[in-house]
Amino acid sequence: MARPAYKLFRLIYHSRQTPMVLGDLDAHVHAIIERSIPNNQRFMLTGLLIVVQGFFLQVLEGPEAAVRGAYCRIVDDPRHDQIAIISGEQAQTRLFGQWNMCARALASADQSILDVLDSKGLFDPARLTPKSAVDLLRKVADIQSRNAQTFMID
Ligand code: FAD
Repeated sequence: MARPAYKLFRLIYHSRQTPMVLGDLDAHVHAIIERSIPNNQRFMLTGLLIVVQGFFLQVLEGPEAAVRGAYCRIVDDPRHDQIAIISGEQAQTRLFGQWNMCARALASADQSILDVLDSKGLFDPARLTPKSAVDLLRKVADIQSRNAQTFMID
């Protein structure tokens, strides 16, 4: 496969949903994805957004300047706060190239997050390492790619 003419960069962060989002999570996530797809397409960005227990976990891949530019916009968005970068590094290949952006909501019983829940069954994004975050995102991407829809709330 031909290598892209730019250096590929992958950024993963987590954030907390703000009360305005929690009021109508489904509609807000739909709005985020609807806006993200054309924006990301324009900048050759791909990725995935996980919605879980009041948190977002997102991966963005693409040319480094485009990833950083999108992240600068995202950081200022009032729909989330307490944003923390898990990893930001150059990558050889896209791991999440199927979608310019898509979202999936996870329920506590979802198999793919069981090993990142604490003993009380709670999701604590601060416990994620760069590797466990990629593992979780890849498991969810696998599930999502078997699903025809681009957005789904469980
Ligand atoms: P507009 O959509 O016109 O937005 C202009 C301003 O209004 C922005 O400051 C925006 O933050 C704010 N805004 C828009 N809608 C709402 C709303 N419903 N409630 C409150 N404020 C609002 N954007 C991407 O391009 N790519 C992504 O991958 C991406 N992922 C995101 C992930 C999360 C978790 C969140 C919360 C947002 C994400 N966004 C993403 C949206 C991003 O934060 C910006 O809103 C968007 O990029 C701005 O798009 P725009 O320049 O077309 O302006």
